[in-house]
Amino acid sequence: MTQPQVPRIRLNDGHSIPQLGFGVFKVDPKQTERIVTEALEIGYRHFDTARIYGNEAGVGRAIAASGIPREELFVTTKLWNDDQGTQSVFDAFDASLERLGLEYVDLYLIHWPTPAKDRYVETWRAFEQLRESRRTRSIGVSNFLVPHLERLLAETDTAPAVDQIELHPYHQQPDTAAFAEEHGIAIEAWGPLGQGKYPLLELPQVTDAATAHDVTPAQVVIRWHLQRGHIVFPKSKRLERMAENFDVFGFELGDAEMDAITALEREGRVSAHPEEVN
Ligand code: NAD
Repeated sequence: MTQPQVPRIRLNDGHSIPQLGFGVFKVDPKQTERIVTEALEIGYRHFDTARIYGNEAGVGRAIAASGIPREELFVTTKLWNDDQGTQSVFDAFDASLERLGLEYVDLYLIHWPTPAKDRYVETWRAFEQLRESRRTRSIGVSNFLVPHLERLLAETDTAPAVDQIELHPYHQQPDTAAFAEEHGIAIEAWGPLGQGKYPLLELPQVTDAATAHDVTPAQVVIRWHLQRGHIVFPKSKRLERMAENFDVFGFELGDAEMDAITALEREGRVSAHPEEVN
């Protein structure tokens, strides 16, 4: 079952990405093949994994077993911090492709800038070569803040296609999002539901909209992301929630509902500050 209603976002390199996908952070490698198979059956076609999640092989097995044509899928993986450099990037990328069992990925990301190492510019030049080889269609970054993006733009020839950052109603990173928009870098929102660490799904701004549209609070928050233009891939291991998180195209939030959720911003980060992950 394909779900043609998932909008695609055009990236600055001419490729496009399904705006809604499925993330597999903290999905047990032993369960990943089954869970990704369920996600494919629901209709998800965009998957976000990483070397450090330890589950690339499970994602790859589910894709291979599905028989779905490769061009209908969008697969992202990420370079872990220890592998920043040049040859180490090529080796890590080869190993990820092999675990995924794919000839190419759609998007390869630098997982964190790790500024204290000061290797992300060198790493990005290696990413440019990987893109030239077409074994990754697009290249991007994750957890990059404005100063890190500024350096890539000043010192290399390629703007990242995306910046994947922590983004949910309590932590919207307006400075990074505005800079990215100005430079044609698409925003991917990780932790779109705040990783369940905040009572986001119990706030009246969310539950009132859920009641009004006869949907769940999680569907309201995912819808808020989509209408803000973010690319999202919420994670759940529970079948009914996976289906619920994909069923977000039958309603639209009004301006007042959108504004009330946007006004929740309070710099409520769930993870470490990107300057401090090294
Ligand atoms: P998320 O915000 O998607 O939260 C997931 C949690 O929300 C679940 O564990 C569950 O507790 C809850 N949840 C999910 N669906 C629900 C529903 N329908 N109703 C009620 N509760 C629900 O957090 P995440 O998994 O961290 O983020 C999504 C994806 O982003 C990850 O799987 C991963 O692919 C990516 N990610 C990237 C980075 C990075 O550094 N680049 C970091 C974290 C996550």
